[in-house]
Amino acid sequence: MLPAQWLNHRGHHETAAVLVLSTGTLSLFSIMWFSDGLRDSSLLGYPVILIGAGQLLRPRHFWMLLTLMLTCVLLLGLGTLNGWRTGLTPGTELDRLTDSLSILLVNGFLIWFLTYDMQNALVRLRAQIARFHASEKNLTYLAQHDGLTRLPNRVLGNALLTDAMRQAAVNGTHVALLFVDLDNFKDVNDSAGHSAGDDFLIQVAQRLRESVRQSDVVCRQGGDEFLIGLTELSSESDIGLVSEQVLQRMQAPFRLRGQEVLASCSIGVAIYPAHGTSFDELLRHADLAMYQAKEAGRNTYRVFSEDIRSSITENLHLISSLRQALLQEEFVLHYQPVLDIRTGKLLGAEALVRWQSPKLGMVAPGLFIALAEKSGLIVDIGEWVLNEACRQMQAWRAMGASTLFVSVNLSPIQMSRGNVETVIATALRTTGLDPAQLELEVTESTLVADTEKFIATLARIQATGIRLAIDDFGTGYSNLSYLQRFPVHKLKIDQSFVRRLLQGEKDVAMVSAIIHLAKSLDLTVTAEGVENEATHKALKGMGCDQGQGYLYARPMPASDFEAYWRQRA
Ligand code: C2E
Ligand code: MG
Ligand code: MG
Repeated sequence: MLPAQWLNHRGHHETAAVLVLSTGTLSLFSIMWFSDGLRDSSLLGYPVILIGAGQLLRPRHFWMLLTLMLTCVLLLGLGTLNGWRTGLTPGTELDRLTDSLSILLVNGFLIWFLTYDMQNALVRLRAQIARFHASEKNLTYLAQHDGLTRLPNRVLGNALLTDAMRQAAVNGTHVALLFVDLDNFKDVNDSAGHSAGDDFLIQVAQRLRESVRQSDVVCRQGGDEFLIGLTELSSESDIGLVSEQVLQRMQAPFRLRGQEVLASCSIGVAIYPAHGTSFDELLRHADLAMYQAKEAGRNTYRVFSEDIRSSITENLHLISSLRQALLQEEFVLHYQPVLDIRTGKLLGAEALVRWQSPKLGMVAPGLFIALAEKSGLIVDIGEWVLNEACRQMQAWRAMGASTLFVSVNLSPIQMSRGNVETVIATALRTTGLDPAQLELEVTESTLVADTEKFIATLARIQATGIRLAIDDFGTGYSNLSYLQRFPVHKLKIDQSFVRRLLQGEKDVAMVSAIIHLAKSLDLTVTAEGVENEATHKALKGMGCDQGQGYLYARPMPASDFEAYWRQRA
């Protein structure tokens, strides 16, 4: 027992057990050898030892011990048969009693020990299973929910809505899927930072959740897109009410890091079973309807209809027509004069693209620029416009128009996707135009995405001698800090302010504030959309530098502009 204890202490549990059990086996063997042989009650000790061995030993050791035991029994039998055993002292009744008691005691102890051990193992197992279940639940939760807003994610949303549709089919009710897309998340992210953007999304999630019933489903589709499932609708008229309510709730100012931020969203709705019978189909249609809501000016909702689908198909058709138009050189540029407001002198022209379609006639840019931007085609169209405008200006320059400038509109997509610097450099090089005669117009939204790379690009463009103007100034972003960071040269006041100039004091204040701002930053200011003499006078009085509008001249083909210039020169 002592060496076994020592081994056990050292951590050699199995060796200790082998030692104890084989010693026990041999001790019983010697007791039996010297007393009743196989008739001795000590033989009962073997099953007890085997129970212990089964529990404590690895199979190999167990079989070795069993072999040892069998050998002992064989020896005892053969010893008795052949008369090798001498110690034939028949046991007394007292012997049997003490033997049986001690064997039962050991047996009982062993069995108690084993059961106790087993129960412990069972408790440990149960705890482990519980832990496993908990972590499984946690994993399922994580896999089905959005980590930021804690809303169900698209996967769970899909399951919940599919369930709701099944239920609606049984009850003859409707389910509406609302595709909610934030209108200005990018602005918030860019201006307030990403962690404020996260806060914003959390608050949006809360408001959406509060806008609907407990039984409705709200989930985050990803990015700034959310889905709302209105379940068990008995009439479709409720959908409009809920959509209005969501739009309204989103309009209350958000508080982000002590700042108030205004937001809005656009919603597309698709209804089960009218617009689709599966989640994916509804989602696709709600998405299309959402785009219609965006196109209708944002902050509104649209319910899917076949018209929407066909207008999308029309758009696809239009995109391929535009691509064709580019190949067949159907685009033309018109030029609109820009004048000095004080002297009326012609200063330059803005190049404005038109599509001379053989089928549709002259198509205004308002009808295709947005689509060209969405499809990325604007990058190629813009490249053509830039080359053509530079070529034309260089031709006029050769005729003597060396002080005029031409200004070209740059789409944000060209800035972010096209290799705009190379395109500009190539246009100047191939046409030979002096960069001082080129002006580029970008919108405020382009400037808001002011990554370091972007600032550096604009600075390099400006360093070549090209001037930069901010188009439609006043309609975009209210945070004016970008004016200090960008090397702009000119602000073009948006037509909407100019047109209302004579209508109200507020617009007068707005325009004069922009003019003052421009003056204090040493920028030139141009008023767009000057349509009448009174507006012209008012602008002149406010100190506006340049004017552009129907009052002076409409955009015109290159040949007309040439005549216009010659007449004034
Ligand atoms: P924009 O750059 O603000 O151009 C001025 C627009 O106002 C032109 O419309 C012009 O015809 C119009 N306009 C000028 N004076 C008056 C006026 O007195 N009254 C009224 N009601 N309108 C006036 P247009 O040519 O239809 O162009 C619309 C927009 O399309 C442009 O706005 C510009 O954002 C975009 N665009 C035009 N050409 C290009 C281009 O080559 N590339 C890109 N990316 N965008 C272009
Ligand atoms: Mg412009
Ligand atoms: Mg403009």
